[in-house]
Amino acid sequence: MTTFQLGIDLGGTNTTLGFVTRQGRVVACDHFSTEASKGPRDWSGRACRKALEMMDLAGIKPGAVQGAGIGAAGLIDQETGRILQSPNFKGWVRVPAARLLARKLRIPVAIDNDVNAMALGEALFGGGRGLTDVFCIALGTGVGGGLFLKGEIYRGTTYSAGEIGHVTIDPDGPFCACGNQGCLEAFVGTAGILRTADAWIERNPRSKMARFASKHRLTVKDVADLAKSGCSSARDVLKHTGMMLGIGLAGVVNLLNPSAIIVGGRVAQAGRFLFRPLRETLKRRAMSVPRRAVQVRPAQLGPRAGMIGASMLPLGYARIFR
Ligand SMILES: [Zn+2]
Repeated sequence: MTTFQLGIDLGGTNTTLGFVTRQGRVVACDHFSTEASKGPRDWSGRACRKALEMMDLAGIKPGAVQGAGIGAAGLIDQETGRILQSPNFKGWVRVPAARLLARKLRIPVAIDNDVNAMALGEALFGGGRGLTDVFCIALGTGVGGGLFLKGEIYRGTTYSAGEIGHVTIDPDGPFCACGNQGCLEAFVGTAGILRTADAWIERNPRSKMARFASKHRLTVKDVADLAKSGCSSARDVLKHTGMMLGIGLAGVVNLLNPSAIIVGGRVAQAGRFLFRPLRETLKRRAMSVPRRAVQVRPAQLGPRAGMIGASMLPLGYARIFR
C-alpha cells in the first residue's frame, strides 16, 4: 500500500494542505482561508475537515496517512510543539498547534517554522536534492533562512537560527522592521528593493521604469518584467539587489561551507538579473575554497515547497506529537 504524509503550510492568509508520498510526489493539494482571528481551535477543526474532504476526493484511505507536519510562520518551540510568537497570528499565544491537530487527526504531528519547512522540502526534493549541507533563503516581504546541515534541520539554542534577513550588511543603512539598521532584509526584501527603485527613478526620471512608475504603483514583479524587457534602470536595481544579497550570502559561504545555497521566494523569480550579480559578488567576497564548492541554485518547488517540506517533518526531522 502506498503511504502518504500530510503537509500543512499555515500562512497568514491561506492554509495549504497536501498529501505527499515519501518520494515527494504531491497527489492532492488544496487550500482554505486561514482566518486566524477565529482562533487556533477553529482553525484546527477546519484543517481537519479539509484533510478528510481531500482524502475522500483522492481516494486515500485513513490508514494510508502516516503522519502530518505543519510549517508555520513564527517562532516554534520544538520541545512543546507550540507556536511561541508569530506576526501573522495575533492572539495565538503559545498555541500547542501540533497537539491540537494530532488529537483531531489521530496521527502523529510535527511542527516547524515555515522557512525551515521550505528548506527541508528544497533540500530533499528541490534544488538541494541529494546534498547534505544546504542553506535556503526565502526572499519576499521578509527575508528568512533555513539550515539543513548534515541531513538535519539546524534550529539553534532557542529555535531562531537562520535569520539571515536581520544580519547587518550596512551599519548606516535604512532602518528595518526588527529595530536594527542596515539589515539584509532592508535591501533585498520587497520594500528594500522598491526603496532602491525609488532612488534610481529619482536619478533617472526619463527611464522606462520611471515612466512606468508615474502611472502605476511599482511592484518587484514590475521591476523584474522591466528588466526582462531591456530597461537598464530596472536591471541596475536588480544588480544592486543581487550584490547586497551576495554580500549577505558570502558570510554564509564562509561560515557554513555549504554544498548549496537555494534561493527561493517571489523575488527570486527575477532570474538571471538577480543571480548574475549575486554569483559575481560571491566570487569577489567569499573565500575561494568554500566558494568553489557551493552551488547557487534557484528553488525548484515553487510555493509548494513549504507544504512538501512540512509533510516530511514527522519522518525523523522534528519532534512528534500524538
Ligand atoms: Zn532587521
